[in-house]
Amino acid sequence: MEQIKVGIIGCAGRMGRSNLAAVLDAPGLVLAGGVERPDHPALGQDLGLLAGRDAVGQPASADLAALVAAADVLIEFSSPEATLTHLQVVAGAGKAQVVGTTGFSQAQFAELARLAGTCPVLWAANMSLGVNLLLGLVERVAATLGDDWDIEILEMHHRSKVDAPSGTALALGRAAAAGREVQLDEVAVRSRDGITGARQPGTIGFATLRGGDVVGEHVVLFTGDAERIELGHRATDRRIFAHGAVRAARWLAGRPPGLYGMRDVLGL
Ligand code: NAD
Repeated sequence: MEQIKVGIIGCAGRMGRSNLAAVLDAPGLVLAGGVERPDHPALGQDLGLLAGRDAVGQPASADLAALVAAADVLIEFSSPEATLTHLQVVAGAGKAQVVGTTGFSQAQFAELARLAGTCPVLWAANMSLGVNLLLGLVERVAATLGDDWDIEILEMHHRSKVDAPSGTALALGRAAAAGREVQLDEVAVRSRDGITGARQPGTIGFATLRGGDVVGEHVVLFTGDAERIELGHRATDRRIFAHGAVRAARWLAGRPPGLYGMRDVLGL
C-alpha cells in the first residue's frame, strides 16, 4: 500500500509536537514536514527532537506552500484565524486537512464549511475515541429524559487555554440539544454571574474551570428531582488527541471534498 504523506501545521505547539510524534510512530504514514509561524523560536529545529524522538533530519520551517505541495494530508491544531488562512492554501492545492483547532466563531466556522466544499476537511472539537463515544451517549440520554431533567456541562482545562467554554463542552451541548431536538444556540447559558434569576426549564448550562496542566475534563450532569446522572471523560495525556488525528488523517486521504467528523472515522 502506498504511504500517506502527512504535514503538521503549528508543529512546535503542544498538540503540534504530539502530532509529530504520532505520525513518526504510525505505520504507513510518512512525515512530510512541519511548519510554524515565521517568528517562532523553534524554526530550524529538528522535527524528531521537537517530538521528543530521535532526530529525523527535517527542520521546522515557515514555508507552508512547500509543505502543502509535499503532503497528502495536513494536520493543524492552532488558532481559528491561522487555520482558515492555511486551509485556503490546502484547498487551492487540492489536498486534505484534519483540523483540531477550537474557538471558531459562527462566521469563521461557516467559512471552514465553505472551504470544505472544495477539499476534504475533517474537524473535531475533540479527537479522542472516548469523547466521541461520550457524545453519542449524551445524545441518547438527553433524548430519553424529559425537559424536567436539567442539563449542565462542566469542563476544566490547563491555565493556558484561551477559549471558553471548551470546544468539547460545546460539542457535548450540541449532542444534548440534538437529543432534545432543539438548537444549542437557542437554549445555551454559557456563563452565569450575579442575580441571574431561577434556572429556565430546557436550558443547557455551562461552567468553566481553568488551572494547572489539566489536559481536559468534561462532565455532563442530568439532574432530576432526587436523582442525578453524570457522564464524564478525563484526558490525562494529549496523545489521545494526536492518535485520533492520525487515525483521521489516514481515513481522510483520498476522500471527496466535504466536512467530516470523528463519527465518520469511527463509524459511530
Ligand atoms: P499551542 O498554543 O500550544 O499551539 C498552537 C501552535 O500553532 C503554536 O505553536 C503556534 O505558534 C502555532 N501557530 C499559530 N499561528 C500559526 C501560523 N500562522 N502558522 C503556523 N503555526 C501557527 O496550542 P495547543 O494547546 O496545541 O492547542 C491548539 C488548538 O487545538 C486550540 O484551539 C485547542 O483548543 C485545540 N485542541 C483541540 C483538541 C482536539 O482534540 N480537537 C485537543 C487539544 C487542543
